[in-house]
Amino acid sequence: MTDKPIPFNWPYMTGKELYYIAESHFNGRLAGDGPFTKHCHEWLEERTGCSKALLTHSCTAALEMAAMLLNIQPGDEVIMPSYTFVSTANAFVLRGAVPVFVDIREDTLNLDERLIEEAITPLTRAIVPVHYAGVSCEMDTIMSVASQHGLKVVEDAAQGVMASYKGRSLGSIGDLGTYSFHETKNVISGEGGALLVNSPELALRAEIIREKGTDRSRFFRGEVDKYTWQEVGSSFLPGELTAAFLWAQLEEAGKITKERLVSWQRYHDLLAPLESKGILRRPIVPDGCQHNAHMYYILLDPEIDRSRVLNDFQRNDISSIFHYVPLHSSPAGKRYGRPHGSLKVTNLQSECLVRLPLWFGLVEEQQEKIVNTLKKSLHFLS
Ligand SMILES: *Cc1c(COP(=O)(O)O)cnc(C)c1O
Repeated sequence: MTDKPIPFNWPYMTGKELYYIAESHFNGRLAGDGPFTKHCHEWLEERTGCSKALLTHSCTAALEMAAMLLNIQPGDEVIMPSYTFVSTANAFVLRGAVPVFVDIREDTLNLDERLIEEAITPLTRAIVPVHYAGVSCEMDTIMSVASQHGLKVVEDAAQGVMASYKGRSLGSIGDLGTYSFHETKNVISGEGGALLVNSPELALRAEIIREKGTDRSRFFRGEVDKYTWQEVGSSFLPGELTAAFLWAQLEEAGKITKERLVSWQRYHDLLAPLESKGILRRPIVPDGCQHNAHMYYILLDPEIDRSRVLNDFQRNDISSIFHYVPLHSSPAGKRYGRPHGSLKVTNLQSECLVRLPLWFGLVEEQQEKIVNTLKKSLHFLS
């Protein structure tokens, strides 16, 4: 077992996915918004407390819907971290907006809420906190800054399914929230996502934008006698086969999260001695944040050569990788965005971060092999 290559991610299947897909097949329900989509919507609404959940074909699509729903216009500014996935920025750049990149906190690597206010200009329209590794941003502060300045908040909770902040589900706190069910996330459907609408006044338009700009959803509920083109929209909904797959996963979301938390904690315990020696820093989860073990990362001491550590993992058939190239330093980020301040923490931490394999089914011996390989690489073991 310990000699087999250890992948970075391995998608967990509950075993029921194909049965639910077969059910859709036999019932001849293939287009979106069928019975499995409804199950998923209800689950998300009950579980998160959002006023309306809508499945999308990705978190990227949900972010694009959010930018459309907020009527983001060319020249508008949107505050977000530079340390995030490209979709956070693309969604707003597609509407002509300028991403304003703000630095992250040293502890959680989340948007530094203390720096938001000084980045606000008369053009600022929205703040997009990203809950990195499923650990919440400081939402109370972010929501209060937003309301003082009349700004909207879109939570990029792509990594935050089943995680919470002071008892509230991530994605349900801002005006809008977005989830990802991509194969690399905790709860999956291959490609997939959801938009959580928390401001009830945005719910009807969200349905319209998702259904090619028509009021088809209301038509299916019998609220109007025909459906027509109401405004600009696109096709953002997944087919029923994807929803059937996702339903099997959502049914086991609790079990998946619990298993991942066990593996996360095992890394955390095994790595404590290295942290005590000052060789690396382990993730920090602030009080009030319940995370979902989406990721286990370490921050190496800046003096350590990260590429050597990654090579040592590779030589031992362990797939371990770093993460985002900060958007403000990427070609498109320079063209479309604007950094606010020095982004010192972003620049430093992004160079020191290493993500360890974490998936449902990773066993103790594999984690021990990973940690021992790391220890050898760092000359922690003779
Ligand atoms: C995964 C991810 C996305 C994109 O999700 P897709 O479902 O693949 O579109 C967006 N933002 C963050 C922070 C992510 O981790």
